[in-house]
Amino acid sequence: MKNFKTVTKTVTENVPTEIVCDRCGKIYKAMQDDFFSLDHQFGYGSKRDGDVIHADLCEHCLFEMLDEHNVKYQIINNEDISEYDGAI
Ligand SMILES: [Zn+2]
Repeated sequence: MKNFKTVTKTVTENVPTEIVCDRCGKIYKAMQDDFFSLDHQFGYGSKRDGDVIHADLCEHCLFEMLDEHNVKYQIINNEDISEYDGAI
């Protein structure tokens, strides 16, 4: 049997104060602007075999890159997100 008491803990963590767009280099205040952060680890046995890729892109650069490369994407409005099933 365990008896418990309530304790207050102080948590220290690193939080970003600014984000630099990895495409245009513009510096944004964190939590002020929308950013797209790409984090992906390629599967073992793939061409990249476990490598990790990371990039931060500002909203402007993200959509400019998608449009430049004719990437098809779908915007789900916040009101419709609960009905989104992941299919594009
Ligand atoms: Zn940018």
